Amino acid sequence: MNLAKVKLFALIGDPIDQSLSPAMHNAAFRALGLNCAYVALRVPERFLPDAIGGIRALGMAGFNVTTPHKISIVGLLDELDESASLVGAVNTVKNDRGKLIGFNTDGEGALRALKGKIGLIKKKEVVLLGAGGAAHAIAFSLASAGARLTIANRTVPKARAFASTIEQKLGINVEVISLARAKLTEALKNADALINATSVGMYPRADQTLVSASMMHRGLIVNDIVYRPLLTRLLREARRAGGRTIDGLGMLVHQGALAFEIWTGKRAPIKVMDAAAKRQLRGESM
Ligand code: NAP
Repeated sequence: MNLAKVKLFALIGDPIDQSLSPAMHNAAFRALGLNCAYVALRVPERFLPDAIGGIRALGMAGFNVTTPHKISIVGLLDELDESASLVGAVNTVKNDRGKLIGFNTDGEGALRALKGKIGLIKKKEVVLLGAGGAAHAIAFSLASAGARLTIANRTVPKARAFASTIEQKLGINVEVISLARAKLTEALKNADALINATSVGMYPRADQTLVSASMMHRGLIVNDIVYRPLLTRLLREARRAGGRTIDGLGMLVHQGALAFEIWTGKRAPIKVMDAAAKRQLRGESM
């Protein structure tokens, strides 16, 4: 690597010390022989405008954005592409000769992970658990691709507000239900896929799940976007019910691959990125 000419990429967020993105992107740069490097930078909320000024001044080539900056960064950029303006949040920024352009690859990343098992998304019945940041990006992508969407959330008014935003922006009707067992069981009867976009089941509360095997059917495809642990309780329940599963690395690797392609214009080495993320997860003591 020629460090005097290196193109620099970063992740900004707080916290960032457990991120798998540096491992994934540096492995991809190495695999393609690119003179690029990717670092994780902790940016507390109050320093976000300074950090963006710094990125401009240093001429960094691009960066990823994570919690808590995905929404607040929008007003600090020069342009948003359609994916980011639809969701109102950004996870990827490209520095295009001084112009900072925001993208959102989270939703498309989740869609790509799902497509591997479900095929065409159009007209598929999908139950989405959650109405937070990740759920927003996923819901917009699913609705845009023609899925029939039911959103189930602990705080129902939040999910209703979110569903009406989707309806206004896309003209697509979205069902909203609570997490009550009877409601979820009913919604899952005819569902093709279930996606967990809540933090339920995430380490250290890895024994928790919002849906158990008795509420699922054999044909159901179950995608948990939680990836610590990789095999969540929800995915174990899905396997017991005879369903097919997709773990949280699917979305993570695909959103990273899409960012890589936006920055470099080259096809991302997905297998290399997936292996690097798995290696880092295996190295963690949980
Ligand atoms: P967020 O904006 O904080 O949203 C959290 C969601 O979880 C909300 O819908 C919240 O419901 C729900 N929730 C939290 N605790 C709950 C509980 N005890 N019972 C029921 N619902 C509960 O978080 P986020 O950024 O969307 O992230 C959600 C999860 O996705 C995290 O585990 C994160 O690590 C993971 N994630 C994975 C990827 C990937 O690439 N695989 C990408 C992004 C995020 P309320 O609305 O009622 O509070």
